[in-house]
Amino acid sequence: MIKKRLFTPGPTPVPESVMLRMAEPIIHHRNPEFREILTRVHANLQYLFQTAQPVMVLSCSGTGGVESTFVSLFSPGDKIISVNGGKFGERWVKMPKTFGLTVVEHKVAWGTAPGVDDIRALLKQHPDAKAVYLVHSETSTGAATDVQKLAGVIREESKALVCVDGITAVGAHEMRFDEWGIDVCVTGSQKGLMIPPGLAFIALSPRAVAAMEVSTMPRFYLDLKKALKSWKENDTPWTPAVSLVVGVDAALQMIRAEGIENIWDRHRTLATALRAGIEAIGLKLFSSTPSFAVTPVWVPEGVEWKKFNGTLKARHGITIAGGQDEFQGKIFRISHLGYYDALDMVTIMAAIEWTLAECSYPVTLGKGVGAVMRHFLKP
Ligand SMILES: *Cc1c(COP(=O)(O)O)cnc(C)c1O
Repeated sequence: MIKKRLFTPGPTPVPESVMLRMAEPIIHHRNPEFREILTRVHANLQYLFQTAQPVMVLSCSGTGGVESTFVSLFSPGDKIISVNGGKFGERWVKMPKTFGLTVVEHKVAWGTAPGVDDIRALLKQHPDAKAVYLVHSETSTGAATDVQKLAGVIREESKALVCVDGITAVGAHEMRFDEWGIDVCVTGSQKGLMIPPGLAFIALSPRAVAAMEVSTMPRFYLDLKKALKSWKENDTPWTPAVSLVVGVDAALQMIRAEGIENIWDRHRTLATALRAGIEAIGLKLFSSTPSFAVTPVWVPEGVEWKKFNGTLKARHGITIAGGQDEFQGKIFRISHLGYYDALDMVTIMAAIEWTLAECSYPVTLGKGVGAVMRHFLKP
């Protein structure tokens, strides 16, 4: 027997207690029992995003959540600035074009994050931009953006809405929606929220709600105006993914019990411990501004990615993520987002060492594992 272990940045592992809640008999979404659950979910989502503003639940994946913001807050012809530093940034350049928005693309090299000066210059050049879209943790490259700092610059320089793809950041990186002046933040269920795919969560500031009032974009199902109206009654406009809402209720209660600051700390420690182990065996990290959700690593010289990945899966039951586009076969990505602890980092480090040895790569077994363990011993 080999146990299956998931180390991908979405879907992420689901805690057993949450799975049990989702296995309960289905309830009807218009009865008081569900209303009570959704009321609690709404309140705990505000805690997760550190906001007093509405955080709505949509039954779609994260991409649908971001689409809801494009179609609900803008009108065809509106200009937005979108930062593209990887697969997701690229998506937030393509998608708004589909809806007739004018997109100013700001490309940054994979593995890096946008700089303050560049964003300031772009805003000076495009004073008519209605929004700036940022990817907080670019999952394809493991690069984290300093959203707090950039939100300050955007607010200082312009009236543009600060819109954040927080899909692998919320729950891993500090996010203070109100304090930092964020206008839109989206996350998804299968990432830091530790439940299966199928829900998106969208927080909107009063400025974003005001933008919604003047938007003329055609939309129906993903209309945040309808979602907001229902949110005020702790309801949803359509049949929600009931079992997933029940699951996220359980997951959010775990999050509340651990405490959001402790969760941010845990992710920082998991990420830095794993990085210490990776570097101890001489492997190279990919990102220069590392995310606390996912760690991308260069596939070392002499190792074939397909063999490495196949061995990890077949012999150790471990699923990780590969590189995308030009980095396919060149990097691999290990997730530590959501339901992970210290021993999980020891496990994945051991599996990497083992697999490298099985691929005839020279590695001193235990070297990386020791570094990971010692990192957790640090005060
Ligand atoms: C996973 C992810 C998405 C897309 O979410 P889906 O749930 O796959 O639609 C968007 N942005 C980032 C940063 C992600 O990690």
